[in-house]
Amino acid sequence: MGEPVKHLFITGGVVSSLGKGITAASVALLLKQRGYKVFLQKLDPYLNVDPGTMSPYQHGEVYVTDDGAEADLDLGHYERFAGVTCTRQSNYTTGRIYSTVIRRERRGGYLGGTVQVVPHITDEIKKAILLCADTGADIVITEIGGTAGDIESSPFLEALRQLRVELGQENAVFVHLTLLPYLNASGELKTKPAQQSAGIMRSIGIIPDVFICRTEVAMEEEHFKKLSLFCSVPRAAVIEEKDVKNSIYEVPIELAKQGLDSLILRKFGLPENQLDLSQWNMMVARAINPDCGKVKIAVVGKYMALRDAYKSIFEALSHGAIDQRLDLKVKCIEAEDLQNRDPVELLGEVDGILVPGGFGYRGLDGKIEAVKYARENDIPFLGICLGLQCATIDTAKNLAGLFGANSLEFDPETPHPVISLMDEQKKVVNKGGTMRLGAYPCILEKESKAAAAYGATDISERHRHRFEFNNDYREILEKAGLRLTGLSPDGNLVEVVERPDCCWFVAVQFHPEFKSRPLKPHPLFSAFINAAFQGKQK
Ligand code: GLN
Repeated sequence: MGEPVKHLFITGGVVSSLGKGITAASVALLLKQRGYKVFLQKLDPYLNVDPGTMSPYQHGEVYVTDDGAEADLDLGHYERFAGVTCTRQSNYTTGRIYSTVIRRERRGGYLGGTVQVVPHITDEIKKAILLCADTGADIVITEIGGTAGDIESSPFLEALRQLRVELGQENAVFVHLTLLPYLNASGELKTKPAQQSAGIMRSIGIIPDVFICRTEVAMEEEHFKKLSLFCSVPRAAVIEEKDVKNSIYEVPIELAKQGLDSLILRKFGLPENQLDLSQWNMMVARAINPDCGKVKIAVVGKYMALRDAYKSIFEALSHGAIDQRLDLKVKCIEAEDLQNRDPVELLGEVDGILVPGGFGYRGLDGKIEAVKYARENDIPFLGICLGLQCATIDTAKNLAGLFGANSLEFDPETPHPVISLMDEQKKVVNKGGTMRLGAYPCILEKESKAAAAYGATDISERHRHRFEFNNDYREILEKAGLRLTGLSPDGNLVEVVERPDCCWFVAVQFHPEFKSRPLKPHPLFSAFINAAFQGKQK
């Protein structure tokens, strides 16, 4: 028998939003670059079965996997940092665990028994974790959402405690991410909250093996010593994770400097191997020193107050800028502002305009205004999902003379439903997990901006939508200058539209942002950023 699969559990203390996802993803990158196959998983202690039904304002962006899961945005960090491909197995919520148990109970699966949180829910959680071994990974990293001490996360932590007993210390290692607050008034960095979160973990029966401390300022030796003594870990297992200056992609480099990856491998009793971060270091150096100029991109959406709502979009734009060695400024524009202000005021000095995906009527007219502005002023434009639908409505209303054209999503009575509900969606009743989700192929026309960007005509991209380009309007919209340059292989679904009368105007029904990685920038984002920069030079 080979080595048993090793499990790394990452918990959080003191507050949420510590960057657990980025830390988990960074650790995964380091272990991968030491030659291990890594799989990542996030456990979320809320009752929604998945985040798909939540507003981005509640939860940030809904990430989509190839296999069609609507998932936590941390999976995006996992894919971007560690270059792994996440699946449905990568994200479980309390709701998903409970619904499996309750369905089994109704079928009579526990006939005669009382179904309880311990052992039935905890067993189901353990199963969800252990199933990851089937991916062939050497090391499975499981991040637990929430904060130690939350009522909601206690079944998850109990399951982890049990797993460590069952798998053995050397196969189940705990990393606890915690916060050292800095008190400006006294100029002090405090360790007490971190000690207390270690205490909470101990009271659950878990003594973490490694402490990672999030901090704004550098830790002193006394802080390391205190935490070591009071949290029952060796000094070397206290790691500082200070805010990075320029790019989140610096985090793994900083963690590696302190030997976090070697420490974890030693705990697992695995050979340390050589760490190869050469490509990553090169990418970070490029990200920090863009030497080819500046570019300014406007993102026009409706959840602009929360950057996490468009996480993958911002990341993909930054990858495009890294690829082109450009210094990127993103201007976030509330779509509604374009409805009552002069567009020149808001879009006057941007080099490119992006309209991302979205749901619901609010801000729609502002997004269409942004498309029109890009088209009329020949500013490079990238439309994504709802962005394609807005581009279609713009051509319909403003160029094809289809007065009142709209999407059926926003106006069920429109005389010209240029965007209509997909056939397969008409019978859908439940809202959760029922959109057209995940990876589907698309064939691009050879002579198109999209094919030029991809350097290919057969592509596969991830989707998340219910509505589509209405084929009844193909001819009239094509006459109005909209080229349909990407279709599903059966020719039925419009996946990409372009306007050849503009220098670079591409809109896609899918979400390219989910597949962009810093080491492999998405071709559409690179081409868009490049077009924006070229346009500016002119
Ligand atoms: N609301 C639109 C649809 O369901 C667009 C979805 C999106 O942008 N992700 O088709």
